[in-house]
Amino acid sequence: MDNIDYQRPASVDEAIRLAQQPGTAFIGGGTNLLDLMKGGVARPMRLLDVTRLPGREIAQLPDGGLRLGAGVPNSDAANHRLVRERYPLLARALLSGASAQLRNMATVGGNLMQRTRCSYFTDTGFGACNKREPGSGCAAIGGFNRMHAILGTSEACIATHPSDMCVALAALRASVRVRGAQGERTIPMTEFHRLPAARPELDTVLQPGELILSVDLPASRFAQRHAYLKLRDRASYAFALVSVAAALDERDGAVADAALALGGVAHKPWRVLAAEQALVGRPLSDASVADATRLLLDGARGFGHNDFKIELARRAVARALAQAHAGTA
Ligand code: SF4
Repeated sequence: MDNIDYQRPASVDEAIRLAQQPGTAFIGGGTNLLDLMKGGVARPMRLLDVTRLPGREIAQLPDGGLRLGAGVPNSDAANHRLVRERYPLLARALLSGASAQLRNMATVGGNLMQRTRCSYFTDTGFGACNKREPGSGCAAIGGFNRMHAILGTSEACIATHPSDMCVALAALRASVRVRGAQGERTIPMTEFHRLPAARPELDTVLQPGELILSVDLPASRFAQRHAYLKLRDRASYAFALVSVAAALDERDGAVADAALALGGVAHKPWRVLAAEQALVGRPLSDASVADATRLLLDGARGFGHNDFKIELARRAVARALAQAHAGTA
């Protein structure tokens, strides 16, 4: 059994100072980290409990946006009046993830930091996993890869990011505010998670010891026409095979702005600006949806068991956009 040092810093500054020591992990709700520790996948030497730090508030921003503190429970975020009124796409994505009990514990910051549910990663009985043990190989390539990625993969890893919340945040152009020893910085949501490339052990662009402070949402015109479509093997408590966050701002019969992102298909929420632009400036139609889908799925490839995801994603995008357009989601 490993000895673990546990501390509860009294301030963000103290948390960041303590986090500069190697082997340190922040813990909020612990819904993912504790599972990984019990399975021997994560082995931090020191846990910094951040649940008592400031950051459990949802606040309006001067530009009309909304700030979600990193410590806000997922259930509070999903049910907050301003989130439901202004960002119903985000509320829907949050409510489609996990169980009510888990949503009560899991935090906004923790949701961002979720690790893949690739079974070769979570089961230490498998030796080959570059994400868990860099340089060991990837058992999923050539193994059972039904849940795995079809976009942005590398020869080192084909894992997917498991979050629903992050897919909606990417579509809604959110950003992540973080602070570390070098100060504070803001990272666009689409750049927060990495593609695996040759370093699949790194899920995000966070530097060691950096703490997530909040997720900031810009003012949005996507409150009326939106859809979060999650396709999975069973109706609840399952991760997405493919999910789509879609929202439209339509005026005078044409799309003035579009938000579109995929989950369950890549190492990060998958958003392609050109795909959104293909929808803008004309009425939503089979032709515009086909153009957007082609751009969104450009370069998609399957690995055997997950080949079906390419066609599934194509159809899911069309359905989600139709639901958003109809305002029936
Ligand atoms: Fe590990 Fe990634 Fe391969 Fe899964 S897909 S076994 S997480 S390297």
